[in-house]
Amino acid sequence: MSISQLAKEIKESATLAQNEKARILRERGEAVIHLGAGEPKSKVPIDAILACSAKLTSGDIRYTPTQGIPALVKAIIRYTEDNYDKAIDPENVIVSAGAKQAFYNLMMTILNPQDEVVLLAPYWVSYPEIVKMLYGVPVAVKPEDGRFQPRMEDIVRSVSSYTKAIVVNSPNNPSGAVYSEDFIGEIVEFCEKKDIYLVMDDIYQKLVFNGKKAVSCYKYAKDDSENSRLIVINGVSKAYAMTGFRIGWTIANRKVTRAMINVAAQNTSCPSVVLQAAAAGALGGIQSSVENLRLTLENNREVMVSELNAFNGIKLIPPDGTFYCLPDFSAYSKDSTALAAFLLEKALVVAVPGGEFGMEGHLRLSFCGSLKEITQGVARIKWALDPESPNEIYIGDRKLRRDWA
Ligand code: PMP
Repeated sequence: MSISQLAKEIKESATLAQNEKARILRERGEAVIHLGAGEPKSKVPIDAILACSAKLTSGDIRYTPTQGIPALVKAIIRYTEDNYDKAIDPENVIVSAGAKQAFYNLMMTILNPQDEVVLLAPYWVSYPEIVKMLYGVPVAVKPEDGRFQPRMEDIVRSVSSYTKAIVVNSPNNPSGAVYSEDFIGEIVEFCEKKDIYLVMDDIYQKLVFNGKKAVSCYKYAKDDSENSRLIVINGVSKAYAMTGFRIGWTIANRKVTRAMINVAAQNTSCPSVVLQAAAAGALGGIQSSVENLRLTLENNREVMVSELNAFNGIKLIPPDGTFYCLPDFSAYSKDSTALAAFLLEKALVVAVPGGEFGMEGHLRLSFCGSLKEITQGVARIKWALDPESPNEIYIGDRKLRRDWA
C-alpha cells in the first residue's frame, strides 16, 4: 500500500500520542494523572446548548453559506468590536471547523510552495506541520536566555524575500506567556512595513491572569485599509470550553477572506449548522462562564506555580495566560521526549515534551484539571526525579519505592 511522500513526513501529534498511551494505561486500571490536556473541563455555556438544541429539534439541518450562518458572522463582528475595539464587515469574516482549520485554510490561501512562515518558539505543535503540509517552510525563531518571547532583532533577521507571514500566538501555547504590548506594536509595524502577513492566533485571548491583558494587534495598525496585513484567528474552543464543537473563525481583509471562502468551499463546504448555532449562542449569550473559567484557571495557576516553585532544580517562568506552563527540566534531562516517556512509565503522569514546541529540555504541564490532579501530578514528578524527595509514594492504592534516583 503506498502512502504519499507528504503524508509520510507529517509527524504524529505528540499530544495525541501521549493521550493514547494514557488512555490504554487507564483502561488497564492504572491511576494516570493527565497534565497534558489541552481543554478546559467546565461545562458548555447554557446559551450554546439551547441554541444548538433548538436548531437540532427544528429538523432543518442543511448546508450553510461557506462563510458561516449570518447569526454567527454577526456575533463575531460584535465580538470583534467588543474585544478588539475594531469595526469589521461581514466580508472580513469566515467561520471554520475550529481555529485549527482556520489556520490550515489560511495557509492554503496565502502560501506558494517554498514560501516561509516565521514561527516564534515556543510555538503550537500544529503550525510547522500545517505549513509543511502546504509545501511551505516553517522558520522558527528561538528566544534568548530561557525567555519565552523572541527578540525583535532575531525575528527581523529570520525574515527573507520568501517570508509570507509571521505567526504570533499570545497568550501562548505552550508557555502561557503573554507578549508585551511594545512587542506587539513593533511586530505590527514591522509586518506592515515589510508587507508580510501578521497572523495573530488569539484563541486564548480571554484566559489571562492577574489583571494582565492580551493586547489587540489592531491598536497598532497604521494601515486600516482593505490591504491590511493583519489576520486574526479565534474561536470558541478554549474560552467557552467548547472544544468538541469545532468552531473557529478568521478576520482578514476582503481579498484574503474571499479566497479563503473558495478554499473552504472545496474542502468542507461549511462547518455543521448545529455547531455554528451553538457558537452563535455562546457568543451572544451570558458571558459569565468565561469569567468563571478564567477565575478557576487563575486559582489553578497559583497552585501549579507554588508546587513547581518548591521543586528543586527546575526553572519556571510563571504563565500569565492559557492553562499551560512550560517549566525547564533540563537539570534532569535534556531530552524531553525521553523524560515524558519516563514520567508516564514510572509516575503515571502525562506531560507533553517541550521539544515538540521547539523548546527542548522543557515539559508542558496543563493546569486545566482539578487541584488534586495538579498537586498529586507534581508530587509524583518530584518523586520520580528529585533524589531529595521521599523515596516512597502512593500511586492509586499502590505504595511505590523509587529505586533509580
Ligand atoms: N491555536 C492554538 C495555539 C491552540 O492551542 C489550539 C488548540 N490546542 C488551536 C489553535 C486550535 O483550536 P480549535 O480547537 O479551535 O481548533
